[in-house]
Amino acid sequence: MKSTMMDVPLSIATILRHGRRWHARRKVVTMTGPGSWRESTFAEVAGRAAQLAHGLEALGVTGDQRVGTFMWNNQEHLEAYLAVPAMGAVLQTANIRLFPDQLVYTITKAEDRVLIVDESLAGTLAPLWDELPTVHTVIVNGTIDPAHFEGSGKKVLTYAELLEGRPTERAWVEVDERDAATMCFTTGTTGNPKGVAYSHRSIAIHSMSQGTYNAVNIGFDDRNLIVVPMFHANAWGYPYTCWWFGADIVLLDRFLNAPNIVRAVEEQKVTFANGVPTVWNDVLTVVRAEPGHDLSALRAVIIGGAAVSRALVEGFEEVGVSIVQGWGMTETSPLVTVAKTPRGTDPETAMSRRLSQGRVSPGVEVRIADPETLEILPADGATIGEFELRGPWITGRYLGDDDGDKFHDGWLRTGDIGTLDDEGHVRITDRAKDVIKSGGEWVSSVELENAIAAHPDVTMATVIGVPDPKWDERPCAIVVTREGADLDGETLRTWLTGKVARWWIPEYWSFVPEIPLTSVGKLDKKALRQRRTDGALP
Ligand code: ADP
Repeated sequence: MKSTMMDVPLSIATILRHGRRWHARRKVVTMTGPGSWRESTFAEVAGRAAQLAHGLEALGVTGDQRVGTFMWNNQEHLEAYLAVPAMGAVLQTANIRLFPDQLVYTITKAEDRVLIVDESLAGTLAPLWDELPTVHTVIVNGTIDPAHFEGSGKKVLTYAELLEGRPTERAWVEVDERDAATMCFTTGTTGNPKGVAYSHRSIAIHSMSQGTYNAVNIGFDDRNLIVVPMFHANAWGYPYTCWWFGADIVLLDRFLNAPNIVRAVEEQKVTFANGVPTVWNDVLTVVRAEPGHDLSALRAVIIGGAAVSRALVEGFEEVGVSIVQGWGMTETSPLVTVAKTPRGTDPETAMSRRLSQGRVSPGVEVRIADPETLEILPADGATIGEFELRGPWITGRYLGDDDGDKFHDGWLRTGDIGTLDDEGHVRITDRAKDVIKSGGEWVSSVELENAIAAHPDVTMATVIGVPDPKWDERPCAIVVTREGADLDGETLRTWLTGKVARWWIPEYWSFVPEIPLTSVGKLDKKALRQRRTDGALP
């Protein structure tokens, strides 16, 4: 029997119309320099999104052609997030920090026809125009420096020119909700970046689900600072979640750094923010170095992308900010789990749960399997396996790639290793490619890193596996210490005693001034392994 319900497609146009109509006066605020801001309402942004769509259409963008962005987090990027999919085209958010060859690979693989580029980033693309044959037009958000386009053969115009005089209304197309709306590439820590195309339906369900209480809980009295780059995994879906739920959006453009995050919280009364641990670690350093900052508006920060340490949670607790951990991947839109605990949970259990990756979101199915035999393992909170996922916002394949081994009977193999319990608590001990196997047994680098990072004189720590003649592999800890601290491996070995299994305690220690970061701000273990092989680690 068929239902009696209307078959209304879930789409970006639906989200756009809803926010424009019912959250018209909510704000989009973009930093224009430290201490200065530009403000527009959702209604104004939606009007400009309509103008952008008309402009793109005038440039010949039709059907599901791809429009790329090469931009910071700013209002125009948000306008592209709304306009491009709502007109039926597909938005590809190119990662501004990729190496040139990867950038060329992603833009070409996506077949971007038009690229919208921030003025401050046009210079990065200048040497690459010849290698980007699919792109016929470049729209510069700001002023055009002719030197960046000499001999490029591209049509070039400014964003303002493109919008000028165009209607602020548009009859958005009714798409098939299964069609692609946006696409992102993984950061390519192994091989070429892999493409994922999100559908209108997957974005609509993911962003709606994300706003709910069990997930991140965001609504019309929030002001959300989107720290996650808009070129990465749809900025974790927050632009769309805010637009559905009417939360103000605060963006830092090219001024993203820890002092400006603090400034945004204070000046814009940000209630809610997000990002990777490295960024928030820096924020904590600023707040500690300059007492007197007022973060009282900030009720929660969702941190994901890498494991959250107890030191970070407790550090922010001291300044009255609640850190909530989430887990996900580019392939999963990205939200899969959120580490919240029911009210009334005793403090020790609550802390342990907050340091897990959290409980699975409604709609996503999770299981663990043996990464070698693919046998499904029990969700008993103890057995270690690879997490596999299935659900309406989990990718079922990679774009144009034959990557069969990344899927198992229709489930996505995440490459993340850990335990699952009978309430759906996910606890990641490692990433498959970072796993350390010493004497045939797994060392959890996540737990070890957390234990080292908890030392008061450590500001950052990570652990990689290094070859060892006796044990095949041993953990090597790479540590950044607080300025002026006098720490050595022996002191940290003593510190770890009793906190982790004795045989996990590293004998290899490197003290470095800083740890290299990936293009999305995570600690770059691949680069560290290379440095170690090259003998470039102290
Ligand atoms: P990339 O794969 O290029 O690093 P992603 O953002 O897609 O980019 O990374 C997803 C991966 O990040 C996950 O597979 C997982 O290994 C890691 N990750 C994300 N959130 C967490 C978390 N809360 N704890 C531990 N690891 C995490």
